[in-house]
Amino acid sequence: MRYHSTRDRNLTANAGAAILQGLAPDGGLYVPDSVPAVDPATLDRWRALPYDALAAEVLALYLTDYDPAFLRSAAQQAYGAAFGGKTGRLARVRDGLYSLELWHGPTCAFKDYALQLMPRLLVRAKQDLGRTETTRILVATSGDTGKAALAGYAGLPGIEISVFYPNAGTSEIQRLQMATQAGDNVRVFAVDGNFDDAQTGVKRVFADAAAAAELEKRNIRLSSANSINWGRLVPQIVYYFYAYFRLAEQGGAAYGAPVDFCVPTGNFGDILAGWYAKKMGLPVGRLVCASNKNNVLTDFFTTGVYDARREFYKTTSPSMDILISSNLERLLCHVLGEEKTAAVMRELAAGGTFAVDAAARAAITADFGCGWADDAAAAAEIGARFARDGYLCDPHTAVAFAVAERRRTAAPMVVLSTASPYKFPRDVLDALGKPVPAGDFAAMQALETVTGTAAPGSLRALQAAPVRFTEVIKPGAIRAAALR
Ligand SMILES: *Cc1c(COP(=O)(O)O)cnc(C)c1O
Repeated sequence: MRYHSTRDRNLTANAGAAILQGLAPDGGLYVPDSVPAVDPATLDRWRALPYDALAAEVLALYLTDYDPAFLRSAAQQAYGAAFGGKTGRLARVRDGLYSLELWHGPTCAFKDYALQLMPRLLVRAKQDLGRTETTRILVATSGDTGKAALAGYAGLPGIEISVFYPNAGTSEIQRLQMATQAGDNVRVFAVDGNFDDAQTGVKRVFADAAAAAELEKRNIRLSSANSINWGRLVPQIVYYFYAYFRLAEQGGAAYGAPVDFCVPTGNFGDILAGWYAKKMGLPVGRLVCASNKNNVLTDFFTTGVYDARREFYKTTSPSMDILISSNLERLLCHVLGEEKTAAVMRELAAGGTFAVDAAARAAITADFGCGWADDAAAAAEIGARFARDGYLCDPHTAVAFAVAERRRTAAPMVVLSTASPYKFPRDVLDALGKPVPAGDFAAMQALETVTGTAAPGSLRALQAAPVRFTEVIKPGAIRAAALR
């Protein structure tokens, strides 16, 4: 399988090079030249596979320059003990409504599925290409990505990772997850500012030729771990297949009949993986794109106009607080072609908006539905799901449940549950109408008592874990920190 830039069909790379580069040289994202088709006999065989073996099969169709035996062992290592046997766990919420719990990994967010695997793909690509430099990963994070990346890259040979998060901008749990990270090759910095300050600072370092030259002298090259990398998208295709098979097995769907998925969306990576699964031949009905009050995608699917020139809202689902949804560019490329995609991305960069014609919008809405829910609706959903169905979810997943309820048809609906409710114990307690103690750990305990559920061991253990990183830096000091 070859890959090319979303903005230029002639700018090509193999899978390893695409993963190593992240972004194509023209600023586009790498997409596969074609989507591999899976025939019914193969689908039938895949039904019987455990998660890691299924992952190796899906990956092998896209990552054809990797040794299949390597992919099998990488999938085993990524999806074994770290997920405690709960990879792709599907919970029945009530008749016709299911929750794909993607937060049983080491950091309790779905990003573990990509970030437990992609680092291994990166290290292998470097070996295969004979590269001997140290790769330094820089990450600006509002919370979930930072910890998932730290957990994925810690201890890997030839890799260093530095994470920058907004001081006082994350939950206490999220901060401690990062500040207690073990490993000799990790660094964590709190930035005295908001997420934008951290992100702007990190982006500047990536664009800084003098910084690159200085690092080059020390045989270090910068790389990013964000979700525009194909290596983060491809592992997410797997769980759509796995969830479908489990749903059929549990009697929730007739095997072969369409199933809808509702996905809490920010950068459009998680839901786009479902679109690839559908194009490969999985019987997916609608992919419903659920947004919070930052509903730029709802408007785009409804009107054909993407307009990022709008107020930015800070919500209780911070990982979805995004106005430029990077992975949408991949869908646009498949629908519009490279030339038109390059043109609309230029319009977006220059004026903050672009439009697609009615035919393109029709092609998109044949596969995608959409909707949004604000913080109050998400909180009400947390309360309603728990009161009616005894099912507890986090604020991101709650946005998707709220939208899913409005968009359900006769087809079964699977909501992708992207984070453990215990990552946001104060907001969840509040949504349940309970008193909220000041600290996250007291809130965690209260949430256990109120709901009769158990906090993930890895989060509870944070209270006693030694804090390794306490440094708070000014946004202006990000460059120096990144070059240390
Ligand atoms: C990252 C994240 C999302 C959004 O996923 P995208 O792939 O960016 O659309 C949703 N929920 C949680 C908890 C996340 O961490």
